[in-house]
Formats: sequence, structure tokens, C-alpha cells
Amino acid sequence: MSRPLKLDLSVARHLLGRTARRAGRFPFVTMLEPLEACNLSCTGCGRVREYRDVMDRRLTVDECLAAVRASDAPIVSISGGEPLLHAQIGEIVRAIIEDRRFIYLCTNGLLLREKLDLFDPSERLAFVVHLDGTEPAHDRITERPGTYATAVAAIREAVARGHRVCTNTTLFQGSNVEDLHALFATLVGLGVEGLMVSPGYSYEDAPDQTLFLRRQESIAVFRKVLDPSKGFPFYNNPLYLDFLRGQREYECAAWTTVTHTVLGWRLPCYAIADRHVRDVSELLANDVWERYGPGRDPRCANCMMHSSFEGASILDALRRPTALARLARGAWGR
Ligand code: SF4
Repeated sequence: MSRPLKLDLSVARHLLGRTARRAGRFPFVTMLEPLEACNLSCTGCGRVREYRDVMDRRLTVDECLAAVRASDAPIVSISGGEPLLHAQIGEIVRAIIEDRRFIYLCTNGLLLREKLDLFDPSERLAFVVHLDGTEPAHDRITERPGTYATAVAAIREAVARGHRVCTNTTLFQGSNVEDLHALFATLVGLGVEGLMVSPGYSYEDAPDQTLFLRRQESIAVFRKVLDPSKGFPFYNNPLYLDFLRGQREYECAAWTTVTHTVLGWRLPCYAIADRHVRDVSELLANDVWERYGPGRDPRCANCMMHSSFEGASILDALRRPTALARLARGAWGR
């Protein structure tokens, strides 16, 4: 399956409708974390440490649906933790699809094969399998042998059964460009819909802080990884890919992607949670965004995460015809 036109039209309708209503800040994507528990403890992951005291908590199906309706974004990215560990994950996905939203279900792939029967293939559902390199590199980052082989087998099975499958790759200090290109070539051969990429964020709770790239280091490595001559089908939009190559500057727009966890909405963003709040509208307030972003908070200095800057690039396309043309060329040239 390829990326459905209905998805792009739904997002476009949402953006144009809110802009015409002068809605101010509004989310495009809800990151939904129905649990924080995971079956891995990867180097570089902040979540399993940050939420260590609430690993037993689960959002109910109704709580998940209430959160996505409160945010009202057309796209819901279900993550965690490992969402396939949630006993009601099939019901959560069905409820959100019936609410006419599009889901990206982010998974490390370890349970995907055995859970596939829970899901019917749908243009409203894509699995996003996380892979950070070929077998040796990925298994080193996940700190468990066999994780790459299991995830790749699950991708193969999901594609064969008619599911939409994307992948997500995080770049760290020491990520090897040739290894990543070999990974991407393998994934394209498996029939994935697209390849998402993002630099790792230096979570304060991650045990190894030397792992994370500084902004100029990210730009240097992305210029090589995103080499257009390779023709890889990157899923991120072309404006954001230009930003990763250091060819565009954007302000943080993390309010475009709001994150709901077992403790409530993360304020300010997916990466930082100075507080958890009950009402999503608190994430949209002016006084929040006077305090966060590069140049305002030192924790933001090296951040180039897609959960903030990809939204900023879409706002850019709404304001400038040349940026819109670049975005459209990428979307329909895929
Ligand atoms: S720049 Fe700061 S506030 Fe914005 S997404 Fe990154 S860490 Fe969050």
C-alpha cells in the first residue's frame, strides 16, 4: 500500500480550516502514549527511565479516545513505551479509526507478528517500525541480540498481509552513513511505504549523554544520509529534510504535535515534560512558547526533532507559496 491521498487531503482540510478560522495555535498530530512500559530498554531512550514509577499504568480505550478528540488532530501517532504491550491496543486502534483519524502505530517490532491478527489492513493505519541501523548496529542500540531480525521478519509479514508499514530511524553520535544506506536499501526491498528519520533528543534521563548529536553535527551527518542521488523514499516532508541538511531555519513549533501520556499532556513537548497538565489547551498558550525553543531554553539548543520542526515547516508552506510548491513536489513526487 502507498501513502493514501485521503490522508493528505484530510490534513490539508484540517490546516486550511483552522487557518481560515484564525484558530491560532492548533495541533496537527496527537502523540498518544497509552502506556510507558516497554519490552526493551534502549540506549538513548528517556521514556523508560522518566516514567519508571508509573510503568504499571495504562490508559483505557475511553481515555485514549477522549485525548485524541480533545486535541482533534487528524493524525494520531501511538507510541509509548511499546504500544503492542497494551492489552486493549486492538480496541484503541479500532476506536480511533472509527473516529475517522489516521494512525501511525510506532513499535519496536518485537511483538508485531504475533499481534497482527488484532488489526485489519486499513488506509487509516500504518505501522512504524523503529530500526536504527543494520543488524549489528540496531542490536547494539537496543542492547539485545535478535531484535533486528525479529523486526524485519515482522515487516515482511505485515507487508505481505496488506498493511501499510513505514520505518523510523533515529540518528545518534557514531551513526554510520554507509550502514544507514544499507538499512534503507533493505527496507525499500521489503516494500515499506516510507522511511522517517530524526536526530535523537538528548533526554536528561538517558544514561549515556555522549550519544547525542549537537546541532552542527546533526546537519553534517544528515547532509550525507539524505543524499538525494540515492533516491530513498523519505517520508518526512522535503522542507523538514532541507532543515535537517541545514538549508532552512525554523522556530520550534512543538505545539503542532501534542503528547498525551499516562500522566496527562506533556508540557511543553514530546521531548521535555516540565509538567503534565490535564487540558491540552494549556500547551497552546503564548506564555509557554515565550519560554521554550532554541535560544530560550538551553535544553532546546540542539533539538531538531520532527515532532516540532516538521510542523514548523508545514506552517511555512501555509505562509509562502514557494515553500508550498516545494512541499507539494515532495508529496506527489514520492
Ligand atoms: S526545541 Fe525545545 S520545546 Fe521545542 S521540541 Fe525541542 S526540546 Fe521541545
